[in-house]
Amino acid sequence: MKTLLLFIIINTNFSATKTVYICNSGISKKYHYKQDCRGLKNCQFKLLKINLDKAKREGRTLCKWER
Ligand SMILES: [Zn+2]
Repeated sequence: MKTLLLFIIINTNFSATKTVYICNSGISKKYHYKQDCRGLKNCQFKLLKINLDKAKREGRTLCKWER
């Protein structure tokens, strides 16, 4: 029982701090779950790892390759 509770707590924490990858080009409005996504291959700028919630607040949408 104790183990199950611990598992739930860890899971909740994980979803709350989910991070995504973005291309810091200034014009990109996409976010990516995978760092090696083909949508990021063309990125000529720095890759940033940010919070999923933050990405959504900035108006970013999930990259077309990962839908
Ligand atoms: Zn992607």
